[in-house]
Amino acid sequence: MPTVLVVEDERDIRDLLRRYLERDGHAVLTAGTGAEGLRYLEESAADLVLLDLGLPDIDGTELLRFASVTGVPVIALTARSSVDDRIHGLELGADDYVTKPFSPREVVLRVDAVLARRSGPSENASADSYGSGRLLIDKDRHEAQWDGTVLDLTPTEWGVLTALASTPGRVYSRAELVNRVRGYEFAGYERTIDSHVKNLRHKLGAAGPDVVETVLGAGYRLGLRRD
Ligand code: CA
Repeated sequence: MPTVLVVEDERDIRDLLRRYLERDGHAVLTAGTGAEGLRYLEESAADLVLLDLGLPDIDGTELLRFASVTGVPVIALTARSSVDDRIHGLELGADDYVTKPFSPREVVLRVDAVLARRSGPSENASADSYGSGRLLIDKDRHEAQWDGTVLDLTPTEWGVLTALASTPGRVYSRAELVNRVRGYEFAGYERTIDSHVKNLRHKLGAAGPDVVETVLGAGYRLGLRRD
């Protein structure tokens, strides 16, 4: 069952979307603030985000950037209707865009369309391969496999892995990884990269520390060659 995260500060809209999405067979998570939405994005495996760009605490476009770096599709919801805003939203990585007021039925149809697009037929040809095929990363499908098993990664773990894999062997500092994953600085966040790396290694099993190598005093690097 696909999980949809609804980030929207207006309670009526939030509840309305939840009702329609659940009726359509989706699991629904809701967040009333940007901070809460960010936490869900980090901790849970949302398959799609319905994101209100006008949030009280965090600029919605920051969340949009974070979601797009981590590969979770986003449908932006906005009261702004100018063509410029629409183009800006799509440039920042939204998969679709809905202007308020909207019909909830239409939103559900768009959710289904984006999810169908993302889960197209499996083509391993589109995956990047590392370490003689032990690690496969398919950005289109937002999927990583280790030794033939799909890894269940959080968005942050996915972001770290794909950042390291973009240039195997290159050392990435914690600050760089934060930037790649977050898109913006966040006080104290650098240290938490270490715990995300630890969890990522755990999911890679015994080879974890060799796949994501620590370079003392410098950061991390991917310990595999691109095939
Ligand atoms: Ca709002």
